[in-house]
Amino acid sequence: MPQVPPSLAERLADVDARIAAAAGRSGRDPGEITRIVVTKFHPAGLVRELRGLGVRDVAENRQQELTAKKSELAALDDSDLDDLRWHFVGQAQTNKARAIRQAASVVHSIDRPRLADAFAAAAAEDDPVLDVLVQVNLTEDAGRGGVEPDSLRALADHVAATHGLRLRGVMAVAPLGGSAAEAFARLARHSALVRTVVPEATWISAGMTGDFEEAVAAGATHLRIGSAITGIRPTRG
Ligand SMILES: *Cc1c(COP(=O)(O)O)cnc(C)c1O
Repeated sequence: MPQVPPSLAERLADVDARIAAAAGRSGRDPGEITRIVVTKFHPAGLVRELRGLGVRDVAENRQQELTAKKSELAALDDSDLDDLRWHFVGQAQTNKARAIRQAASVVHSIDRPRLADAFAAAAAEDDPVLDVLVQVNLTEDAGRGGVEPDSLRALADHVAATHGLRLRGVMAVAPLGGSAAEAFARLARHSALVRTVVPEATWISAGMTGDFEEAVAAGATHLRIGSAITGIRPTRG
């Protein structure tokens, strides 16, 4: 019998069941975990389908794609789409801060003081406070995204003192090839350090398709899951 590939709804349900099971194994309430669907490279129509399945949190990693997808969806004039929360999870350039701020309500990837300043300066007069996370580099490679752990404290101090930004917590990507569980344990310690600066900064954004169960075990509050839900990503155009 040829196998019928699972539908989007089935993949979403399967991931959610795995999140709930992982939470249960750690004695955690799955209700305290936000599952964000990373929709990068997929068409705007997929976002609408996800919304129809009850998804509220979606993420993009490139400003141009985020802006384009949002305007395509806005043109549909479908008020159901209004309650989507858009997360920006990619490397950001300071000159894109205004456009990202217009499109996203959470930025996960603040990794240097100048970028925090750029997001603050990009605020329009009636903009709400922007929720941000500081991205921590868990790899040995300083060229990867994220602040080096040595500079985390200073960056958290800076963001906490920046008007118009609300520091919500930390974000990281586990290193390729290493133990995700070990990396996420380090991230939990980085989170504790940030909470000494801002006690309310309790979010831990960690865990992708390959490692979200380890992230749940390590205390992640926000999972950024792409291909396990969306299917294989189309190649970038
Ligand atoms: C693409 C991406 C994800 C999701 O990756 P998957 O492996 O497809 O789940 C998560 N976080 C960031 C920062 C990404 O760029």
